[in-house]
Amino acid sequence: MAAAFPVTGTVAGSESKSIEQLRQWLSTHDRIFVLTGAGISTASGIPDYRGPDGLWKRSAPITYQAFMRDLAMRARYWMRSFIGWPAVAHAQPNRAHEALMELESQGRITMLVTQNVDGLHARAGHRDVIDLHGRIDQVVCLDCESRVDRLDVQRRLRDANPDWTNLTATSAPDGDADFEHASAADFRSPQCIDCGGLLKPDVVFFGENVPRARVADAQAALRKADAMLVVGSSLMVYSGYRFARGARDAGMPLAILTRGITRADDLATLKLDSDCVPVLAGAIVYS
Ligand SMILES: [Zn+2]
Repeated sequence: MAAAFPVTGTVAGSESKSIEQLRQWLSTHDRIFVLTGAGISTASGIPDYRGPDGLWKRSAPITYQAFMRDLAMRARYWMRSFIGWPAVAHAQPNRAHEALMELESQGRITMLVTQNVDGLHARAGHRDVIDLHGRIDQVVCLDCESRVDRLDVQRRLRDANPDWTNLTATSAPDGDADFEHASAADFRSPQCIDCGGLLKPDVVFFGENVPRARVADAQAALRKADAMLVVGSSLMVYSGYRFARGARDAGMPLAILTRGITRADDLATLKLDSDCVPVLAGAIVYS
């Protein structure tokens, strides 16, 4: 698999040290529970929400409560998603996704749990993935539970909102876009074709709980592991942080590879404050 995403160029001194430390760490564990966050997808052109200080880089995303109860906020969400989603849809996995897929193909990963909704692990060929916060490429009807491909919804949004088709903006990890418009409330939100019900992206919004069964599956996978590796996440959101706590409670080694501070720095047995893409790609020994 080495040919697909070759390591090119030179790496900085601290990066080469991180590569060596991670390679050493990986060599001592073969049932690894991996948790990934937005930092692994930034090199694929999908920006992350938080800076190295753990604080929001941009306005906080919509909450579940606002989406459900506020028609104008919902219209604004779909307007921004309509503009921001194509960039996420066209994003390609990078060398870090590829490195984790290689580790899985070597049978070294018990489960990969991702906080990302971009689907890039699956696109890289990774088989066992729990999408903790759902997938942005799927839309679900909250009334009849029918599912729709996001691409179909995009076409319908375009047909229903012809005045909005030539706008672009900086997109965000969840297909949102940094875009404001005075008449955003006029944007026509999609409805279910089958029942006229409320459509919602199949992602866990802020203020919404991760489905219990999904958490239980991830926790079961963690119990089978002998170590946990966090890649590209500050773990500021509890839904991911709880697994770091679980690893600590089980006495499991916890390695964190991400830029900047994380909520679990005091739980980590190895902290690598580096860019996860060159470090992961450099640390994996390809078979
Ligand atoms: Zn429906």
